[in-house]
Amino acid sequence: MTGNSQRVVLVINSGSSSLKYQLVDADSGEARAGGGIQQIGEPSSRVADHEEALRLAFDQMAEAGVDLESSGLVAVGHRVVHGGKVFYRPTLLDDARIADLDKLSELAPLHNPPAVQGIKVARRLLPDLAHIAVFDTAFFHDLPAEAATYAMNRELAERWQIRRYGFHGTSHRYVSEQAAEFLGRPLKSLNQIVLHLGNGASASAIAGGRPLDTSMGLTPLEGLVMGTRSGDIDPSVISYLWRAAKMGVDEIESMLNNRSGVWGLAGERDFRKLGAMVESGDGSAQLAYDVFIHRLRKYVGAYLAVLGHTDVVSFTAGIGENDAAVRRDAMAGLSELGIVVDEHRNLSREGGARRISDDDSPIAVLVVPTNEELAIARDCVEVLTGL
Ligand code: ADP
Repeated sequence: MTGNSQRVVLVINSGSSSLKYQLVDADSGEARAGGGIQQIGEPSSRVADHEEALRLAFDQMAEAGVDLESSGLVAVGHRVVHGGKVFYRPTLLDDARIADLDKLSELAPLHNPPAVQGIKVARRLLPDLAHIAVFDTAFFHDLPAEAATYAMNRELAERWQIRRYGFHGTSHRYVSEQAAEFLGRPLKSLNQIVLHLGNGASASAIAGGRPLDTSMGLTPLEGLVMGTRSGDIDPSVISYLWRAAKMGVDEIESMLNNRSGVWGLAGERDFRKLGAMVESGDGSAQLAYDVFIHRLRKYVGAYLAVLGHTDVVSFTAGIGENDAAVRRDAMAGLSELGIVVDEHRNLSREGGARRISDDDSPIAVLVVPTNEELAIARDCVEVLTGL
């Protein structure tokens, strides 16, 4: 099985206190090893920094019987959240590119600094390999101006690079391609809505493979209700809290990112537990669930109108792939808009891409497992092939 004919990529997703990794065979799609190190740098943790975390990842892979040297490893793929206006293609990293990336940290202070740190550490520990950054914003780089533009002072927006960038792009692209493959139809011929519902959640409207709109904006805070993020709010909430509650801007930002969403409403962000709380009659959990579903339905309705004609709606990520109640409630009562979900298909736990709509539903509704690591690995191989 081993040998250098295979093209294996180590995909790294480096967050502020976590490092997730997966060793992916880009040709077969097989994940050879994978895992995550949590609580990096936290007082109770024995992992002080990202360098220790990556060394731990190497140890874990060795324990799992993976010898990196003989694995056919050709590149390290780094998931980077924000590419700004500069980065919209998978990018081979050198010192100059990393310095450019560093400059983007102002635009994405919560997300990019840990990614840059992960890149620096990985280059130090694996100096002979190509390191390639793949950006969450890339797929949405060509969003039409009417969807990408905030209706605010244009000069100010241009000066500070304020636009709607969109995130989870790797997943939206991968899932839309998989949906086309599942339906046996060319991507170019399909109008799609993709609902990526994980801890972070976003929706997109895609026509012929090109995104027309997406729910996240300047940062991943905009749009759907998420595990701990508020999604859309009136921006005046921020100035009001600043003025009336005397909260600082960092405190407000942290509250909206880390202590809002379903967690902010119900004290729980895990949808498995939230569902159990709803079942047991917990009023806060019910409200959190209802607000989540209401926002999701609003975006589905908006994107049906943006697309005009829709062929397929796909659910993906932790909640989208696993939570049948969310899918049922998000799609309920939409037969006049062309969506009819089959109750039994929706409850099936079959793996892989599958249809949950009725055969007569004009719009196909699918569950499509996402695989961001594989998509990143393939992007890396493409960069290497083009060198
Ligand atoms: P991320 O990659 O953004 O961290 P995931 O895509 O892993 O997130 O999704 C995490 C979410 O998926 C959590 O809210 C979790 O509760 C939910 N989830 C995972 N499995 C299930 C399940 N079987 N039923 C309902 N929700 C689930």
